[in-house]
Amino acid sequence: MDMTRSRRHSASAIIEDSDVPSSRNMEKKSGLNFTRLLCICFVCFLVLPALVTLSYNVVSQDSLSGPSQISKMQYNVARSVKAADEVGTQSEEIELHEEQKGENQVLDLEEGNQTSTTMNQGLNESSSLKSAQNMDPSLDGLLADGFSTSSCKSRDQVYRYRKATKFKPSAYLLEKLRNYEALHRKCGPNTEVFKRTLDDLKSGKTLADADCQYVVWVSYSGLGNRMVTIAATFLYALLTNRVLLIDRGVDMTDLFCEPFPNTSWFLPSSFPMAWLQPLNESSTQRYGHLLNNSIIQLYENGTQSNLPHYVYLHLTHNYDFHDKLFFCEREQQFLKRIPWLFLRSNNYFVPSLYLLPSFNEELHHLFPQRDSIFHHLGRYLLHPSNTVWGLITRFYQAYLAHAEQRIGLQIRTYDSGYFPYISDQVLACSQKNRVLPNISHSDEFLEAAYENGFAKKPYAVLVTSLSSGYYERIRDLYWEYPTVGGQLVSVFQPSHEERQHTENQSHNMKAWAEMYLLSLCDVLITSPWSTFGYVAQGLAGIKPLIMFKPENDTVPDPPCREVMSMEPCFHAPPFYDCQAQKGIDTGKVFPYVRHCEDVPWGLKVVENDEL
Ligand code: GDP
Repeated sequence: MDMTRSRRHSASAIIEDSDVPSSRNMEKKSGLNFTRLLCICFVCFLVLPALVTLSYNVVSQDSLSGPSQISKMQYNVARSVKAADEVGTQSEEIELHEEQKGENQVLDLEEGNQTSTTMNQGLNESSSLKSAQNMDPSLDGLLADGFSTSSCKSRDQVYRYRKATKFKPSAYLLEKLRNYEALHRKCGPNTEVFKRTLDDLKSGKTLADADCQYVVWVSYSGLGNRMVTIAATFLYALLTNRVLLIDRGVDMTDLFCEPFPNTSWFLPSSFPMAWLQPLNESSTQRYGHLLNNSIIQLYENGTQSNLPHYVYLHLTHNYDFHDKLFFCEREQQFLKRIPWLFLRSNNYFVPSLYLLPSFNEELHHLFPQRDSIFHHLGRYLLHPSNTVWGLITRFYQAYLAHAEQRIGLQIRTYDSGYFPYISDQVLACSQKNRVLPNISHSDEFLEAAYENGFAKKPYAVLVTSLSSGYYERIRDLYWEYPTVGGQLVSVFQPSHEERQHTENQSHNMKAWAEMYLLSLCDVLITSPWSTFGYVAQGLAGIKPLIMFKPENDTVPDPPCREVMSMEPCFHAPPFYDCQAQKGIDTGKVFPYVRHCEDVPWGLKVVENDEL
């Protein structure tokens, strides 16, 4: 269906039907006419956009009404990751990628050559969200009172930038957070009880019934990884009544605000930071090491004073069988007696917490909408520092605020440089799912609209990538060619750092600002395997189109799919049944813990059991 014609018709119909001409006559008689001005404003700002949106939606619906498309959607929803891949193989060919790259690709994006079969859900959702009221400043009760104003501008001002989320935190989660804040105030740094427990730790004393217990998150890995593991560690703290303390590493203090009122989540300077250095796979305090060498057994058979005064939980991608026993009930019972746990991870290990019977029920109470765990915890915990907030708000206001649609393209490659087939993949994904407008050869509509004073707001495309190549390719495309329907497309990229510099503070500030800016978009296309993208989608509260991992430098078919849930993927889960003491597929234990779209052996929490 020709969207141009449809939109044109809507626009002209409203002009003819409106009473603008009669008010013009009146103006001739009476000079400046207030009614006329009101009418024009009404037509321009309310009726016209509404009809244009309506006509767009009608077009979208029409394009979905064929039985093959409906069955394809059901098929996608009904199948597991493996089956979804099969759908991709059977799906109709994407002409874009059957052709040569470059010029040929441009031609394939032209008017009348659309091969879209799936609904652009993000676009439709965002259209409806547009009319939704803005969020309340407490984010539905998620954020605590008691912070001094302007200590954290991002927390104070977030509601001006985000749209209302359809995911509401449960009353039980809110209660749990308020209780946690009280616990943190009671046990946090600079309290008497903290000083006592720290003295015990330093002197090697272990009190199995210590008043306060701690889990220390040890800074590790890229920023996206850090953010998903902070959320996972905080959830573990909630489940085990521990206090979460953060190793400030080289830059954590400059990236985030304090999330808990009247206290701090950072390890204080009185803590012997040098202790954190040797916490790695070779540490003799590593839980896996203690288990593997029967040292835990010795402790269990001995007296209470024999308990280790702290345990290091090594939950990184290279952890071993014994480290993974962290996800077993018996081992958790033991850990309950250790006041200090140090946890280093680059994994969002939440999905495997459901495997523990003692956590499972609590998780259901906390998150009745299961796929919103990171969404809520991320919005609760992760507030950009004032410096990062400056980067975010200046960019947003200059480039994104006035757009008709904000489209975020997160392009992450693990080799540095620019890869043209990744651009092809992004464009193919966009075309198939109607994210970006298709290009045309005629500027006619644009010119006519401009002449008549109806210039449309542009679509703003936010590209994030270490390379500038993807931004340049997409910007050039929309500069060199008009679009169907005369839609203007502005393309922006805040930075192109070329390489990952995890220890560099200003680099990490930019990375955080970009994740946040992506999370303010209406639609997202993200890269596989990337926690950078997971953070953006989780904070946004939208399901992105995730690209499949390309093999042999070619564009996969299909190029992308909508994710089952916006939860991050746990890339290295255990495959072990603790009770039966044998290997199992942990993606098949519960209908709500599934294998991920991008990492076939990974696990993620999904909402709908029937997916
Ligand atoms: P992941 O490796 O994709 O899971 O994400 P991480 O955030 O953990 O690590 C990637 C790191 O590379 C980021 O934290 C940044 O330091 C850098 N990086 C990757 N992509 C981008 C990007 O689009 N923009 C910026 N500014 N930095 C990026």
